[in-house]
Amino acid sequence: DKAQPKKPDWIRVRAPGGKAYADTRRIMRDNNLTTVCEEAGCPNVGECWSQGHATMMIMGEICTRGCTFCNVATGRPDALDVFEPGRVADAVQKLGLNHVVITSVDRDDLDDGGAEHFAQTIRAIRHRSPDTTIEILTPDFLKCDDSALEMVVQARPDVFNHNLETVPGLYPSVRPGARYFHSLRLLQRVKELDPSIFTKSGIMVGLGEDRSQVQQVMDDMRAADVDFLTIGQYLQPTPKHHHVDRFVTPEEFEAYEKAAWGKGFLMVSATPLTRSSYHAGDDFARLREA
Ligand code: SF4
Ligand code: SF4
Repeated sequence: DKAQPKKPDWIRVRAPGGKAYADTRRIMRDNNLTTVCEEAGCPNVGECWSQGHATMMIMGEICTRGCTFCNVATGRPDALDVFEPGRVADAVQKLGLNHVVITSVDRDDLDDGGAEHFAQTIRAIRHRSPDTTIEILTPDFLKCDDSALEMVVQARPDVFNHNLETVPGLYPSVRPGARYFHSLRLLQRVKELDPSIFTKSGIMVGLGEDRSQVQQVMDDMRAADVDFLTIGQYLQPTPKHHHVDRFVTPEEFEAYEKAAWGKGFLMVSATPLTRSSYHAGDDFARLREA
């Protein structure tokens, strides 16, 4: 095992607590919902949940993939729960969210990769909370035909996010079940199908990539018309996960952010604690006002 670099003091995490945090937690529990905030052990959970922001993870807690950075269990997933879209919509309404982020595990076991379930969830939220903007963070639908993606796009989420996660050279060790160019093409295809949907993607840094590779990924994303970009520090969830190669300094993050604006992204978040759903609603609201 490689020795891990020591966590620097700019990776500071606020301990969860307080009434608003407890309320968010209760609404999730009452609706029997899973959050990526908890599953991924996200460092921002204290901050996000005390503002009522949580990212719900649909289609179960077991994933058919085994990305080496991810804390979600791999195995044979449960059957889809047809009542889940309704429970998600109920939670969104109770939390009074202006913006919601919905993600899922990968469902390579399903013919449509879970596309129909995603679409139903979007429609259920729209029905109950018509003013809430909806951001989805989807799997890559690698084993599905084109109709899967089309079904999700037709449900018209406001933001379609699919993370490239890392530079192409690290795919075999970081995202072994995925294909870089397939994911890039998926993002481009969303824009082709419906140009009114904002597209978004993100990567983690500190996995062993170098700066020129990060610049290349940004260029690839812009070539695929990706609108929003997130870059955050990779943190190892447990010792058996991919090692942290290094902690990228706040100055380097600033340089990435500056470069990204220069390349024409409409929204950029690049800080050590940036996650793809971190402040997603605030950023999106600001963009819509502008
Ligand atoms: Fe949840 Fe995203 Fe906030 Fe992390 S950054 S706590 S995953 S909403
Ligand atoms: Fe985790 Fe998503 Fe990879 Fe599944 S596909 S292991 S949920 S990152």
